[in-house]
Amino acid sequence: MIATAAPATSRVEINIGKIAHNAEKLVQFYGSKGIEIMGVTKTVCGDPNIAKIFVSNGIHILADSKIENIKKMRDAGVNAQFVLLRSPALSELDAVVKSADISMNTELAVIRGLSTIAEKYNTVHEIILMVEMGDLREGIMPADLEGFVQEILKLSGVKIVGIGANFACFGGVKPSEKKMADLSKLAGLIELKFSLPLSYVSGGNSANYNWFTATENIGKINNLRLGESIYLGRETLDRKAIPGLFTDAFTFISEVIESKIKPSVPDGETGQDAFGNQPKFRDRGLIRRAIVAFGSQDVLVTGLTPELDIEILGSSSDHTILDAKDVNLQVGDQVKFSPNYGALLAIMSSSYITKKYTNVKDNHILT
Ligand SMILES: *Cc1c(COP(=O)(O)O)cnc(C)c1O
Repeated sequence: MIATAAPATSRVEINIGKIAHNAEKLVQFYGSKGIEIMGVTKTVCGDPNIAKIFVSNGIHILADSKIENIKKMRDAGVNAQFVLLRSPALSELDAVVKSADISMNTELAVIRGLSTIAEKYNTVHEIILMVEMGDLREGIMPADLEGFVQEILKLSGVKIVGIGANFACFGGVKPSEKKMADLSKLAGLIELKFSLPLSYVSGGNSANYNWFTATENIGKINNLRLGESIYLGRETLDRKAIPGLFTDAFTFISEVIESKIKPSVPDGETGQDAFGNQPKFRDRGLIRRAIVAFGSQDVLVTGLTPELDIEILGSSSDHTILDAKDVNLQVGDQVKFSPNYGALLAIMSSSYITKKYTNVKDNHILT
């Protein structure tokens, strides 16, 4: 939310209209072959303003990896189903049952705990089982899935409503035609063997764009969980722009606090920099060095691309140094940057960066 009292020395401008457009287009695009979208809100720390935009543009299931973000959206009156995108920690099961409609799971100890708590509250907690399909982040090994399901069916506080898999997050493994067919097949087997209809066969994330575009048969896949492609308008295997989407819904802006002509190579004996690296410099003679008012504490600086023809030379915790090249940057000037996924995550998480909503058409904004 907007910290109204703070000056916007560094801010992110969030173009609500562009996010709405991207959400609507992706819902239509994936819906054309019968795939429903979960809108992933972890990227924006469960920002209720953005969550409401998702809902009003056809996304009715919101997925986040943090239970506190789900609570925040619920408390703000976001009217959606909420999915906990990450396996719950044993220490947070009570909150999960209370706040999430569905959670993604991979561990029997956790699922048993969820069941016990759900029974206590006289409810049934819904779960999606994540299957390991090669990317080697979370997931039950496919060979163990049947035995796993069998155990869970003995529990009365939880209900399996789907299976899912994740790709291109840790191992960079692509959700190929073959991987999707394998997941479909697993879903079919579980449904048949246990007479257990699966409402969600969740095939992946923003990395599934190329598969979906090319495939003639989506099989049993009926769900994808999308974050980055809504926010940044790109698929995530090659980071290519998706036709018809905006890639510039987020702009990071900061202010020049120093601008001077200085050498391009440090003067003196050198040791480690602020982060323990031994920096190397190319001598480009005297240059205009501008310092902007943010650093590595606020942003993944390497994930920023300046809009102007200037270059980011590096950063310490609270200073970022630019080679202004031919741009006569002066103190007080505002410099714009386009964030990649990593930079966006950090920007949205930093309490030092003001969030400013632009291109707001109706009264969706809370603050
Ligand atoms: C973060 C996450 C997503 C969203 O990924 P994007 O690349 O932003 O679309 C989907 N599924 C899981 C399990 C995640 O953790």
